[in-house]
Amino acid sequence: MREKLIEILNQAQKMEYLGNVASYIPELSHKNKNRMALALMDTKGNLTVAGEAKESFTLQSMSKIITLTRALMRYGEDFVFSRVGVESVDLPFNTLKSFTIKPNNPMINAGAMVISSLLVKESFETLLDYVCKLAGNPTIHLNEAVYKSEKSTSYRNPAIAYYLKDLKNITTDVEETLEYYYRQCSIELNVCDLANIAAVYANNGIHPVTKEPLIDLRSAEIVKTLMAVCGMYDESGNFLMRVGIPAKSGVSGGILAVVPGRYGIGVYGPGLDENGNSIAGAKMLELLSSEMKLNIFSY
Ligand code: GLN
Repeated sequence: MREKLIEILNQAQKMEYLGNVASYIPELSHKNKNRMALALMDTKGNLTVAGEAKESFTLQSMSKIITLTRALMRYGEDFVFSRVGVESVDLPFNTLKSFTIKPNNPMINAGAMVISSLLVKESFETLLDYVCKLAGNPTIHLNEAVYKSEKSTSYRNPAIAYYLKDLKNITTDVEETLEYYYRQCSIELNVCDLANIAAVYANNGIHPVTKEPLIDLRSAEIVKTLMAVCGMYDESGNFLMRVGIPAKSGVSGGILAVVPGRYGIGVYGPGLDENGNSIAGAKMLELLSSEMKLNIFSY
């Protein structure tokens, strides 16, 4: 298995020259494009890794599936989806254009900020603790530099949040909500942690190693569905056709992917395409899917 992953990583490494490291959050721009990694955990808890498995990066938009999970578990689907939609959208993740009152889905920033506003009253530490449990790693922490970097340079996210406040879809304090959002995006981990988190979703909410029940069945089901529908932004349809695995990307270059009942996968490669998705990461998932017959639409 490890040989297979190394071979896939080597293939992806050939794409190192493609794409750009995100620089609109200045602190992300220091990352080295040739540092890539791949980790796979099965639902029995066996972890296989290849590449720079210790290289850390921030969750960024991958955090959106975790906050959505918490909101669903706390408020239920009827309430959550009265505030945010479930349809894909052919616009960038930081769009201000696509919605009236209800953002299209919880994977674009607007929808994610509505979700953050639902959770802002429970502390950020509660969220961090939950991420540690999902990853089976108590050492996961906030990357203070990335958090400060985004907070001090983002004008688009405050514009979205204040607009949602004006529309009365954010009812909490806007600055507190933004603070929570920047922090959730700045949680730092590595591909092994991503594979662990993804494996919990693959295993219907139970951590394969610690056996702790962390997500109820229905919430896990909904989150996986929305990963398939809009987890890769306006490339979601194309990605699902190529790879056939529900996945969520972040502008740090990480992608978390879930093969229900089989595997949790984490990939990392900081060179991004124009949609903000990791080019090498998507390639690794494509190769892995065809090598190991992981397409959820085949059997
Ligand atoms: N923190 C980033 C932002 O709001 C997350 C975006 C992403 O990963 N696509 O711009």
